[in-house]
Amino acid sequence: MAAVVIAAFLLSSEVYAQKAVERGYATINAEQARNYVGFLADDLLQGRDAGMPGGLIAGRYIVSLLKEWGVEPFLESGYYQPFEAVRVTEPYRGRWEVHADSLTRIKGSGAHNLRCMNNILAVIPGERTDEFVIIGAHYDHLGYACDIENDGCYNGADDNASGVSAVLQIAKAMLLSGKKPLRTVIFAFWDGEEKGLLGSKYFVANWQKPERIKGYMNFDMVGRGPVDNPRYLKYFYTEAHPLFGDWLRADVEERGFCFLPDYRPWDNPIGGSDNGSFALVGVPIVWYHTDGHPDYHRPSDSADKIDYPKLLDITRAAYLCAWRMANEKDF
Ligand SMILES: [Zn+2]
Repeated sequence: MAAVVIAAFLLSSEVYAQKAVERGYATINAEQARNYVGFLADDLLQGRDAGMPGGLIAGRYIVSLLKEWGVEPFLESGYYQPFEAVRVTEPYRGRWEVHADSLTRIKGSGAHNLRCMNNILAVIPGERTDEFVIIGAHYDHLGYACDIENDGCYNGADDNASGVSAVLQIAKAMLLSGKKPLRTVIFAFWDGEEKGLLGSKYFVANWQKPERIKGYMNFDMVGRGPVDNPRYLKYFYTEAHPLFGDWLRADVEERGFCFLPDYRPWDNPIGGSDNGSFALVGVPIVWYHTDGHPDYHRPSDSADKIDYPKLLDITRAAYLCAWRMANEKDF
């Protein structure tokens, strides 16, 4: 009798979890993607330069959405994780730095630039409060050239309003699924990526025990594709975790997405984007990236050129991956 009851319970909790996955999945749609990318890549945001008014407005917008849905701030102080970035300006222009020691050294050494930037961090608490999955995308871009009248505005629709849209939709979907995840899930919107992965570097430098982060999912440019292969998706993942590849293969098989995945297991995924900051401290990563195109890092990277059906399917597939990373008991 007891066995029958336990079996019935296990079955019903499995059915419950499956219903929860689908409930969240159904909230992801192309219209939201158009809204998020459209706002973030508008000329009025002046290219979302880190620490400048357009970048600050982009941050406010992201926070207002998270607040409206009820995705809680991760830090006790609120959604923002503020940090300073400095660089030497004479006799040569140096790299932007965020580590405390570099800040002290550069500020004391003479001519320098200083910018105040903000990561945005939200959380869905899990049953396990000491095990984390982090899902992130940078929201800054290159700003604008002096001649903004003649379209000197770097809109950064693909790079990386598309990635921000994916993370926002995944956060909303996981919340609306109604299921408390097994692990605690952090949604991160990085500032200063274009100036040298500054936001993610700062976050990792101030995080205790990286081994508690079970996985980091990164989104950087997920809305376009190469001219000769527009549905292409580079799917990078830490080679020691072949399961990350198996998950996507299974979901592609089952749901038939419109993108074409190129599986790229990577033994040391420290390059390219914010995944690097996490890989350097041994956190397993996944990085979705639809590759270069002629508008990359040009003012012409605009919202009207985004392939929304493709962005939608990448967001859906990534939501399923995030669900597994957050809920699979062992991996
Ligand atoms: Zn980028």
